Amino acid sequence: MSFLSEYHIDHAQPCLPLRPTQVWTDPAALEHNLRALGARCGLGPVGVLAVVKANGYGHGMLAAARAFLAAGAGGLAVGFVEEGILLRREGLECPILVLGGLVENQIPAYLDYRLEMTVSSPHKARLVQERLRALEAADGRARRARVHLKIDTDMERIGVHAAGGAAFLEVCAGLDRLEIAGVYSHFANADHADPARMDAPLARLCELRRQAGHLLPAECRWHIANSAAAARRPDTALDLVRPGLLLYGVQHSAEQAWLPEARPALRWTSAVVYFKVVEAGAGVSYGHLWRAPCRTRLATVPVGYGDGYPRGMTGRAEVLIRGRRCPVVGAICMDQLMVDLGPAGTAYNGDEVVLVGSQADEQIRVEDLARWQGTIPYEILTGISERVPRRLA
Ligand SMILES: *Cc1c(COP(=O)(O)O)cnc(C)c1O
Repeated sequence: MSFLSEYHIDHAQPCLPLRPTQVWTDPAALEHNLRALGARCGLGPVGVLAVVKANGYGHGMLAAARAFLAAGAGGLAVGFVEEGILLRREGLECPILVLGGLVENQIPAYLDYRLEMTVSSPHKARLVQERLRALEAADGRARRARVHLKIDTDMERIGVHAAGGAAFLEVCAGLDRLEIAGVYSHFANADHADPARMDAPLARLCELRRQAGHLLPAECRWHIANSAAAARRPDTALDLVRPGLLLYGVQHSAEQAWLPEARPALRWTSAVVYFKVVEAGAGVSYGHLWRAPCRTRLATVPVGYGDGYPRGMTGRAEVLIRGRRCPVVGAICMDQLMVDLGPAGTAYNGDEVVLVGSQADEQIRVEDLARWQGTIPYEILTGISERVPRRLA
C-alpha cells in the first residue's frame, strides 16, 4: 500500500529532507477550517464527516485525518476501502465511511476493519446479506455490516434513483445483517453559480425521507452536502455534512470564496538549485517556447510535472522567490523548471521557492494554479505526486 503516502508524514525518515521540494501541511489550519464549517452549517464539528480521500486532497491523509478528529469531527470519509484500511492500521477508531461503490470481494475487508459501506442497489444489499450469512456459517460468528444507502438525486453516478428509493429502503430494512447507519446522496451542481440548482435534488431526498424514513432505525442519518452545499446552503446540512475541499482551506476558484474565513493549510516549496545569466534572444527549455527579451537572470528549481506541477501551466505560472512573484519561463520539465528573476534580480542557491503558499507579502493559491492550468483546484491538489514528501508545518 505504498501508493498511499503514510510514510511521507514520518519525520523520522532520514532520506526525505534531502530533496528541497516538499509539501507542508498545517494541522492548526485544518482544525480551524473544520470548526468554521461546522459552525457555518449549524451542526458543529461532530456533524462533519471529514473527507480525506486521495491522500487527504494531497495534504497527507493521516495528518489530515488526525487534525480533523482533534477538532471534533464526527467521522471520516474515504474514496476506497484501501484508504480506510490504512487509517485503521494507524489506530484511528472513529466511524469511517467508504464513498465508492462496493465490490463483492471487498466485503470481508470492510468487516475486518469496521468500515462503513456505501450500498447503492438492492442487488448489492443482498450480496452483503448473503456474504455475511456465508461467513457466519463458516465460523459461527454473527456479524452485521454498517451501511449507508446511496440515493441518486441528480448525478447519475452510483445509487438508486430517488423515484425507486422507497422500494430500495424497504428491501434493505428487511435484511437483518445490515445495520443501516445512513442514507445519502450527492449534488451534481453544488458549485453552480445559482445555488437554487440544489433545490430539486434536495427536495427528492427529503421527500424520500418523509415517505420511507420510518422504515429505518431512528439513529439512521441522512446527508447530501459537500463543501459548497454546506457553506452556501446550510439548509442542505440535514443530519451530517461531507465536506472535503473547504476543510483544506481551498475555495471553489480564485474569485469565489464560500467560506472566506477558511485558511489554506498547504504550502508547497522548493529551493533554487542553479543561477545563471542569459543573453537577449536565448531560448529556454525544450522547444525554446520562451526566449529572453533582454539580458536577464534565471533560477532553476528542482520541481516539474513529474511532481504534479502541471506542464500545461507553461507560459502562465508564477512562483515566489525572495518575496517577489517571478514568472516560470520556458516549458516546465519533468523534474525542473526555470524562473525569470529579471535583469536585476538575484537569488542564491538554496533560496526558498514557493509554488503554493505565502512568502513575505505575496501569496500563490491552489486556485491560481487551477486557473493557469484550466482545471479545478481538486485536480491540482490530488495531482501533487507521491514523490513529493509531506511534512507537518
Ligand atoms: C469527494 C466527495 C465529497 C467531498 O466533496 P467536496 O466538494 O470536496 O466537499 C462529498 N461526497 C462525496 C460522495 C464525494 O465523493
